Amino acid sequence: MSNIKNNCCPKCENTEWQDGNLQSSGSSMNIKFLPSGKFLVLKKDKIKVKACTNCGYIEMFVK
Ligand SMILES: [Zn+2]
Repeated sequence: MSNIKNNCCPKCENTEWQDGNLQSSGSSMNIKFLPSGKFLVLKKDKIKVKACTNCGYIEMFVK
């Protein structure tokens, strides 16, 4: 779903990102979408995180 032009930060247009994986105590993460109230359960090992090295904006995506 991540489709950022030139891979640049939507906040500051920086193009340098720090990649990471989500670490949490549980084995999954639940995201509740409003207003439908639907839950999306994500396995944490499938969640990738990247952070803009300039402003700290964080993107999470499921791979
Ligand atoms: Zn940024």
